[in-house]
Amino acid sequence: MTDRKAQLAANLAQVEQRIAAACAAARREREDVTLIVVTKTYPASDVRYLAELGVREVAENRDQDAAPKAAECSELDLNWHFVGQLQTNKARSVVRYADFVHSVDRLRLVDALSTAAVRAEREVGCLVQVALDASSGSVGGRGGAAPADTVAVADAIAAAPGLRLEGLMTVAPLAGPYAGKPRAAFDRLMEIASALRESHPAATMVSAGMSSDLEEAVAAGATHVRVGTAVLGVRPALG
Ligand SMILES: *Cc1c(COP(=O)(O)O)cnc(C)c1O
Repeated sequence: MTDRKAQLAANLAQVEQRIAAACAAARREREDVTLIVVTKTYPASDVRYLAELGVREVAENRDQDAAPKAAECSELDLNWHFVGQLQTNKARSVVRYADFVHSVDRLRLVDALSTAAVRAEREVGCLVQVALDASSGSVGGRGGAAPADTVAVADAIAAAPGLRLEGLMTVAPLAGPYAGKPRAAFDRLMEIASALRESHPAATMVSAGMSSDLEEAVAAGATHVRVGTAVLGVRPALG
C-alpha cells in the first residue's frame, strides 16, 4: 500500500469508529447511517484509493473540480453527491455525473436541474438544503432555503421530471441562534424532515454532520454524514 492509501485507510477506520460509537450511544443501527466522503480539493487518485478501500459515496462542492474528477473515475463503482452552492448555469454539467444533489435551495434551481436531467436522460436524487439561520424568502450565507420555504422547494422537486425528492440537508449555522449548537440545529432539521414526510413519505434522507459534528448529527437522527477533513486531511485554504 502507498503511504497515502495507508493514511486514508487509517483515517477511514477512525471515522468508522466514531460513527459506530455514535450509533451505539444513540441506540441506532450502524447501517442506518451512510458515510459520504467529501473529496473536494483532493485529487482523483485519492478518490481511487478510497474506492479501493470500500468507499461507495463521495461528494464534491464545485462543479469545475468535480466534473473532470468524476470523468477520471467513471469506471469506479461510486455514487457522486453534489453538496455545494450551485448556480443554475452549472446544472447541465452537474446532472451528468451527480447521482444526488444535496444543495437544492430555490425554485429556479429546481427548474434548471429538471430541464438538464431530462435532456441528459438522467434521474437525479435531490435534497432540499435548509438554512436554519435564513428568514423566509432569503437564502442562507452558505446556501439553503429558509425553513419556511422548504416545503415549496420540496413540492417543486417532487413534481419535476428527471428529479426525485430524497430528503433534506443542512450545514450547522455559524451565525444566529444555532451558532455553536449543532445538536439543536440538527434536532430542528429532524423536525422539519418529519413534517415533510407527512406529504412526501419517501423523502427519508437527512444529510447532516461533518468532521466536527458528526456525533451530534447521528444522535439527532441523520441518515447521511458528509465527512471531508477527518478522512482526507485539512484542506488548503481556498483562494
Ligand atoms: C466541505 C463540506 C463538508 C465536509 O466538511 P469537513 O469539515 O471537511 O468534514 C460537508 N458538507 C459540505 C456542504 C461541505 O462543503
